[in-house]
Amino acid sequence: MKIGFIGLGNMGAPMALNLVSASHQVTGYDITTKIPNELNKANSIMECVSDADIVITMLPNGEILKTVADEAINMMKKNTIFLDCSTVDVESSRNVAKLANNAGIGALDAPVSGGISGAAAGTLTFMVGGEEKHFKLAKELFDIMGQKAVLCGPSGSGQSAKICNNMILGATMIATCEAFALADKLNLSREKMYDVVSTSSGYSWSMNSYCPAPGVGPKSPSDNDYIPGFSSTLMLKDLLLSQQAAELVDADTPIGSKATELYKQFVENEDGADKDFSAMLKRFESRGYKS
Ligand code: NAD
Repeated sequence: MKIGFIGLGNMGAPMALNLVSASHQVTGYDITTKIPNELNKANSIMECVSDADIVITMLPNGEILKTVADEAINMMKKNTIFLDCSTVDVESSRNVAKLANNAGIGALDAPVSGGISGAAAGTLTFMVGGEEKHFKLAKELFDIMGQKAVLCGPSGSGQSAKICNNMILGATMIATCEAFALADKLNLSREKMYDVVSTSSGYSWSMNSYCPAPGVGPKSPSDNDYIPGFSSTLMLKDLLLSQQAAELVDADTPIGSKATELYKQFVENEDGADKDFSAMLKRFESRGYKS
């Protein structure tokens, strides 16, 4: 396939390189980041998309996506696909899909989980919104860049799945961290706590696969001085998107709201911005019941 790829940052570049390795023709465009040599370099969005069968975007947020989509969709051939893999708000995602459909172009929102290492290894999970016929056409590319792709429903459903998942993740990470800090003060060893909880009803991915306590459980960013992994800043971004969506559809998400407040505090006032999201444990270690 001829693929136009816009946004070649931490995630986009390795994803595009995997497509090249699978013998697809990829033309890349980015406003600041250097285009990897293995890709054809475009000097404008027009150059990147005008001959493409499918255009993939991997951009920072909904506003940038809308600006890029406005320009790209105008210049794409009919019956092609605009595939956005960024994590953005549900509304922007639906608006971009509408724009594409009105121009005779298919649209898929397909945010990912798996992070930078998953992007490099081609083991991402894609949560996809859009029509089945477009999903089927893009499936070959999902299989190269990832290990799993789930069609979740109509446009915006991929973003909905992503922010619901990450709202649970943020909340369970906080619960896991505060439980470790409580265990410390109760003189319960972290190893014993892990041993029990990881095989009891308090288990979760945060505890079992990404344990925030260094030296406990499988290797995770806590064992590497909390270098991300998945940064607290990105977690805050996803939690804010969950709260924006909750407000839009009048959903009651008190735990999601509290998790957002705590990560906001951690990122903005407690030196957490560049740390892995599991570094929340350090936040609780020094605090008491009344602080
Ligand atoms: P990044 O900042 O490294 O990359 C974004 C790229 O987009 C940059 O290279 C930037 O120059 C480019 N860009 C910005 N505006 C542009 C424009 N108008 N035209 C062309 N290019 C433009 O970010 P990232 O870590 O690669 O994340 C990309 C998306 O993936 C985000 O939505 C993020 O939330 C999501 N995501 C990231 C991770 C992760 O671990 N990094 C995990 C899952 C999902």
